[in-house]
Amino acid sequence: MGSAVKGLAVSQGIGIGKLAVLESASVIEKNEVTDIAGEILKLDEAFADAADQLERLYNEKREVLGEENAMIFQAHLLMVQDEIWQEAIRNLLKKEKVSAESAVYEESENTAAMFEKLESEYMQERAHDIRDVARRVIRLLRNEEAFKLSELPSGTVLAAEDLTPSDTAQLIPENIEGIVTAIGGSTSHAAIIANSLGIPAVMGVGKKALEGFMKGATVIVDGGSGDIILDPSEVEIELYRSKIGEIEQESELLKAYKGKESLTLDGRKVELAANIASPDDLKNVIENDADGIGLFRSEFLFMDRKTAPSEEEQYIAYRTVLEAMGGKPVIIRTMDIGGDKKVPYLNMEEEMNPFLGYRAIRYCLKEQDVFRTQLRALLRAGVHGNLKVMFPMISSVQELRMAKGIVRELEKELSDDGIAYSEKVQYGIMIEVPAAALVSDLLAKEVDFFSIGTNDLIQYTVAVDRMNAHIAELYTPYNPALLRLIHMTVENAHKAGIPVGMCGSAAGDLDLQAIFLAMGLDELSMAPRLVLKARKRAAETDVTLAESRLAEMLMIAEPDVLEDRIKSMML
Ligand code: PEP
Ligand code: MG
Repeated sequence: MGSAVKGLAVSQGIGIGKLAVLESASVIEKNEVTDIAGEILKLDEAFADAADQLERLYNEKREVLGEENAMIFQAHLLMVQDEIWQEAIRNLLKKEKVSAESAVYEESENTAAMFEKLESEYMQERAHDIRDVARRVIRLLRNEEAFKLSELPSGTVLAAEDLTPSDTAQLIPENIEGIVTAIGGSTSHAAIIANSLGIPAVMGVGKKALEGFMKGATVIVDGGSGDIILDPSEVEIELYRSKIGEIEQESELLKAYKGKESLTLDGRKVELAANIASPDDLKNVIENDADGIGLFRSEFLFMDRKTAPSEEEQYIAYRTVLEAMGGKPVIIRTMDIGGDKKVPYLNMEEEMNPFLGYRAIRYCLKEQDVFRTQLRALLRAGVHGNLKVMFPMISSVQELRMAKGIVRELEKELSDDGIAYSEKVQYGIMIEVPAAALVSDLLAKEVDFFSIGTNDLIQYTVAVDRMNAHIAELYTPYNPALLRLIHMTVENAHKAGIPVGMCGSAAGDLDLQAIFLAMGLDELSMAPRLVLKARKRAAETDVTLAESRLAEMLMIAEPDVLEDRIKSMML
């Protein structure tokens, strides 16, 4: 039997492969040396090699992903070539007579710590970049040449303390069987990327557990259960191979649902849509034949870069998505930064409670330049498809009115300037703050649609931080308070005659599908690879029967009991 480690299941699927462990720079001990000249030579070679790597990465990425996405490598290139930084490291090496890697580590840690103390979040984020660059140089010094993320061989399971944006950008998805990280939750940057690339991932295993991960060892990652097995026995490998076989067979069978309408057993039409983070995810959406896009997390266009995307760049991204969906509904959410989604160049201050702070619509209504640019791009792109614009984190009618007021001003501006824009765009809001659910009758009168964001609605309703692994058991969609809020929101939306969807992770939980359909949700939006599974489940679900059991379910008080009852309610 291999040794077992448990983490958070963040991206479904099973991967079996050989471990590659991304060393974090934080484990470098100070070691003294005598051959100073030899160390300096090694150091200079590593600086030059790192610069070559970064230049190549910059050119490759620019070609494939465009200038804006490649800029991070250019910034890192400038840092590694910085004479002052290099000289400081050489001086430290000579003064303390330590190895080249100790000197890089110590100097970069000192500089990073200095940046971290600064007020501006932009400067604090530079600490991350410094560590990223230092880690690259240290890897080269340690001759971990084989460990270029872009060159990891097929059959690799990648383990790391955390994956930075520049790390994830380098991965070749086909070669990565699984991802394991010490920190990070189901809504972290790395989790969203793993999901959209379809890589099984388990996160939040803790730093201690990661210490037991030996490179080259065989490992099994079950991204559906959160189980990791190190050095599995032949029997375990066989067991998981057969599970993979079942998954593959299932996805083969699911192809029968491609091109079909999403209908329940009793003939009701539902909309099963997909969530995306960038136009790169469209391939998965089309492959899985989603009925639309229920959530385009547009803030990802703003992340991992040095400046905000221009109106033109955004217009192209939105237009690409709308055209690819050929008239199917596309819900684009306006930028939802803040919380765990940091955008350094927007100069947001460090906050005590970022999830309760200056985020999403709250930021957009104050820093209107960014918001206006995005809305102009959306209004223009709307001409090319079936666009619905959605505002995140709405907690009052005033915020909604202000946002819509800005839209009206921009429509006038575009019309005065003779620029084409769509007058048919629909406007909706996310219901992800309990205050919004509680006044959903009032909000429903002023929008075209709702979409329920359970990821945040759970955290705000139950007062449970969605990133905190210690209280993860409280973070459950089976809390009766959550289900009652959802039910109430659907009833209020329908009374006002508007449709209501759901785009939080609960929408992709097949066990909850029957109760959501019984409540009357019109649309469920999930990771693209769940869409066909959801279509199959809908085809097997008798919603009339589920409706007859709804009242009884809403009276169950304990989340555990409720979970069991919901899972067996259609039996
Ligand atoms: C949600 O809160 O449910 C949601 C879909 O938004 P995000 O996960 O991006 O906060
Ligand atoms: Mg949210």
